[in-house]
Amino acid sequence: MHCPACLRPLRRFKAGTVTLDGCDGGCGGIWFDHRELARVNREHPDPDASIASLRHDPAVRVHDDDVRGCPKCEAVTLEKKLYSLGSGVVMDCCPQCRGIWLDHGELEKIRESLASRPPKSRAVARRAVPQPIAISFHVMQQVYDLQARLRG
Ligand SMILES: [Zn+2]
Ligand SMILES: [Zn+2]
Repeated sequence: MHCPACLRPLRRFKAGTVTLDGCDGGCGGIWFDHRELARVNREHPDPDASIASLRHDPAVRVHDDDVRGCPKCEAVTLEKKLYSLGSGVVMDCCPQCRGIWLDHGELEKIRESLASRPPKSRAVARRAVPQPIAISFHVMQQVYDLQARLRG
């Protein structure tokens, strides 16, 4: 498989019991097969414990609004989805194999947003797993603007 963002060959690596594919030495993004992102988040609830030792080359620049193809499916374009409002992370999702591509740093943002949610009972927490939100570029831009204003 090749990186959907910078086209380098992806390297397999283990995160707990989950085998992932990462862009090592390139853009530093990670490919998650269907349900793997949820498994990683469940197995590694502590956002300070790093799960990926991928080398990220800062000279390799990628952009969230680039059109990307699925590394597993032929000729399928990944769709932009917001992981959750709290994380502000825009994922690239395959409508066919349901895999997810996260750019460098996005997994950390997701794990931080999950950890900062108030503690809930197990049953409630399971139901509260955020569902991806399909968004247009227009909405994505508004989310970025809003975040910039909240920070500023
Ligand atoms: Zn890459
Ligand atoms: Zn796919």
